[in-house]
Amino acid sequence: METFEAHYDSMCATIRKRMPNADMAVIEQAVEYARNKHKEQKRKDGSPYIIHPLAVAEIVVEMGLDTDAILGALLHDCIEDTDASREEISNLFGSSVAQLVDGVTKLTRANFSSTEQAQMENLRKMFMAMSKDIRVVLIKIADRLHNMRTMQYQTPEKQISKCRETMDIYAPLAHRLGMQKIKWELEDISLRYLDPADYNNIMSYLNAHKEQDEAFMNTIQNTINQRLTSIGIQNTSYGRIKHVYSIYRKMQTQDKAIDQLYDIYAFRVIVDTIPDCYNVLGHIHDLFNLVPGRFKDYISTPKPNMYQSLHTTVIGSQGIPFEVQIRTWEMHETAEYGIAAHWKYKQGAGEGNERDFEWVRRLLESQQDSDAEEFVQSLKIDMFDDEVFVYTPKGRIVSLPAGSTPIDFAYAIHSGVGNSMIGAKVNNRIANIDTTLNNGDIIEILTSRGAKGPSRDWLNICKSNQARTKIKQWFKKEKREENVAHGRSAFEAEMKRVGLPLSITIDPEVGPQLLKKLSFDDWEDMYAAIGYGGLTAVKAVGRIRDDINRAVKAQANDKLTASPLRTVPDSEAVKRNRHIVNGVIVEDIDSCMIKFAKCCAPVPGDAIIGFITKGFGVSVHRCDCPNAAHRDDPIQSARWVRVRWANESAQPFETTLELDCITRDGLLLDVATTMTTARVRVKELFGKDLPGGKSIFTVKFEVADVTELDAIRNKLLNIRDVVGSRRGQN
Ligand code: MN
Repeated sequence: METFEAHYDSMCATIRKRMPNADMAVIEQAVEYARNKHKEQKRKDGSPYIIHPLAVAEIVVEMGLDTDAILGALLHDCIEDTDASREEISNLFGSSVAQLVDGVTKLTRANFSSTEQAQMENLRKMFMAMSKDIRVVLIKIADRLHNMRTMQYQTPEKQISKCRETMDIYAPLAHRLGMQKIKWELEDISLRYLDPADYNNIMSYLNAHKEQDEAFMNTIQNTINQRLTSIGIQNTSYGRIKHVYSIYRKMQTQDKAIDQLYDIYAFRVIVDTIPDCYNVLGHIHDLFNLVPGRFKDYISTPKPNMYQSLHTTVIGSQGIPFEVQIRTWEMHETAEYGIAAHWKYKQGAGEGNERDFEWVRRLLESQQDSDAEEFVQSLKIDMFDDEVFVYTPKGRIVSLPAGSTPIDFAYAIHSGVGNSMIGAKVNNRIANIDTTLNNGDIIEILTSRGAKGPSRDWLNICKSNQARTKIKQWFKKEKREENVAHGRSAFEAEMKRVGLPLSITIDPEVGPQLLKKLSFDDWEDMYAAIGYGGLTAVKAVGRIRDDINRAVKAQANDKLTASPLRTVPDSEAVKRNRHIVNGVIVEDIDSCMIKFAKCCAPVPGDAIIGFITKGFGVSVHRCDCPNAAHRDDPIQSARWVRVRWANESAQPFETTLELDCITRDGLLLDVATTMTTARVRVKELFGKDLPGGKSIFTVKFEVADVTELDAIRNKLLNIRDVVGSRRGQN
């Protein structure tokens, strides 16, 4: 059984070697504190629990982090597994240590599982996002490494799930952080549990060839060493077999047996300076035969994870190819410990997260390939806190902007889910729909077919553009009448607030100009837009404010200059003229918006009737329009009003005719020519073929009144193969 003393001594020895300046007094205090807290607990193998934090701390020391990180490692399981609190740790060891322990605890509690391969990157991002401080990630990796080393005491199920997680998250992170040594160890242990048969195959092959391999490696090593010593280059060189998992991967990807594998030997030459590296390279190529195409200069072009070395593959007199890696001691340190190796450069730069992150950012920004770019993104998330990762009940990860709520989540799943949402569960508890989501939360959206749809408040609650857009779309589509009413009152209130006359909007001259400025075809559309949130009332009024003021001023001037010249009109005529809007007089209503119904497109001369719309204004229909057929119904009758054409109307009216035709070449041209000859302004003209050699032509044009319309219709009916006509919809 392992003992406290053995682990404690081992950790202290490593501290003396790797971090001689560490504060031993406080480290001893933390060891005592943790030992006391974990007093009653045992590891699965029966040894005292404290040896785990000691071992984790030792790994952190090997990485070369700082005293706070060592304390964080020693205390990393205290909050989770004992009665220790963050406050207590903060009081005893400082807030920065407490923050590290708290960060590790959060990662321990989080469930990093996803069944989908495509989600692994999100999983790793979530891990990073939850960590906040890169030291938390490093302590957690150390924690996992020690747990992997003692994996034999776990149940088979636990072994498999932990090893999967290690392969999915911890090994890739160690790789990206440049911690080659830890990555290899994590992979090899995982493989042992995940594919024991292949693992054992490789191991027994390697064991069986051990003597042979060692003899080979010794020969090569001696050859290299002799040459370098003879020319006076200080060096440390040694050979090794590549790690088991990389051999396993090579066998898989190259589909080869282990004895067919090309390069399982790697030699390292570590020297003092970069010029020495290139110098050594020359001598290696002189001693052995170069394998073409295998030379890589990672010194001038470092790998994204900061790795630097020269790589070359050569063949010796035995005919066995092997790789040689040439690097300086500093590069070697970086290759072994990655990001952690750079920790010491930061020492003395002062405290504070920002500075901590500064060098990580610099480092990561220097990473260039796409893989790394994504990783830079993920670390930036960590640093800038702009994303949150949550789970669906089925374990799919959804990434949302930081601060998102269940509303954002629901619309991220599907707009149908959002629109029928009636509530939400966060981590299996009913939660308010404005709850801020945290990394790792599991969100379940409660929906109902009878849901009333989103509320307007949601637009203020949700954080994602996606949710906002979808909610707006819903309002746009589902609630036109309500939008128009809502938007209209908002618009009127704003007009009132800034002191503009509402009547100007229905002024026959100014009104259409204002609409054009607002880029709408009619006022109802504009009100609807305000209603669903596509446009704010303040913005709308702001856009037309100057025009209105100008128009009001101009009208006041007109009155002053025009009135003396005019004959005094009788009061009845003045009154009646005020009623004329768009060439139509609405009886009994003093001033209102007029629009022509698109369904029947009335023109002067048509018998017409007006309908008071719920949104705004009077819509004018032809008396024979199907939509006006039920105007005598008691429910509707109050909203139908009598309207008539004003005689002096000069404005053109748009109307549409549909022509039934027998299909033939040149017919479209004939129709167009007829319209041109009649000097009619055509707005649209198109034909559509129907089955059985028939077609329908639709022509939209401007007329002054129904007399002109009938004249044109007759001309069109005179064209050969035009067999019928009817008034269409505009
Ligand atoms: Mn632990």
